[in-house]
Amino acid sequence: MSSGFSNGDGKIIVERMIEIIHENRGSLSELDGAIGDGDHGINMDKGFSMAGSRIAGADIGMSEALNILGRTLVMEIGGAMGPLYGAVFRSMARASKRVELIDAGVLASMLARAAEAVAELGEAEVGDKTMVDTLAPAAGAVETAHARGAGLPEAVDSMLVAAEAGWKSTRDLVAKRGRSARLAERSRGVLDAGATSCYLLLKSMGETMKELCR
Ligand code: ADP
Ligand code: MG
Repeated sequence: MSSGFSNGDGKIIVERMIEIIHENRGSLSELDGAIGDGDHGINMDKGFSMAGSRIAGADIGMSEALNILGRTLVMEIGGAMGPLYGAVFRSMARASKRVELIDAGVLASMLARAAEAVAELGEAEVGDKTMVDTLAPAAGAVETAHARGAGLPEAVDSMLVAAEAGWKSTRDLVAKRGRSARLAERSRGVLDAGATSCYLLLKSMGETMKELCR
């Protein structure tokens, strides 16, 4: 397995994320329905499919596809998620756009920039029961893996272990941000919808990256 892949081959990463959101739109809305307003999956699917038609047939690589996805989410999705996920994907695009070989170091900066952008916009910290509980540990794990000299596939494995643990931690947390914060203690006991979509997206992204490394 090589330790990276060509940015030019990476549009499929975004196409697969769009499919994953479409397949999980029902369960994501259901999770949001338990402690929010029940629109998370539908919202996300609307923006992601719109981006899907914009990138279909375009001769573009990973960074440009991420950029189109981010721009579409910012412009077309309301609620908390349009601006936040828009910032995630635009930051990932910016951190990788001048790079041809996507390796562990590039993935580390993509995630670090994405986590910073979300923290700045949404002001949520780890433990607030949001997508940050998935994204921040994922970014930290890739940084650590890269620092010890791990290649991309190994860095992805570390990312997914940390992302999954962070996602699952949201079940027992009390929401401090967004709509479900109004429920206070009653928000405990359910996984956060945004943390769940974030885990599904990182899992899909990581798995496709590993396939591209072969
Ligand atoms: P809305 O809350 O506007 O209906 P969605 O249902 O699409 O938007 O998204 C809800 C998700 O947004 C929550 O599950 C949570 O993960 C995330 N979220 C809400 N507020 C914030 C915030 N300030 N920072 C980060 N994520 C947030
Ligand atoms: Mg909602």
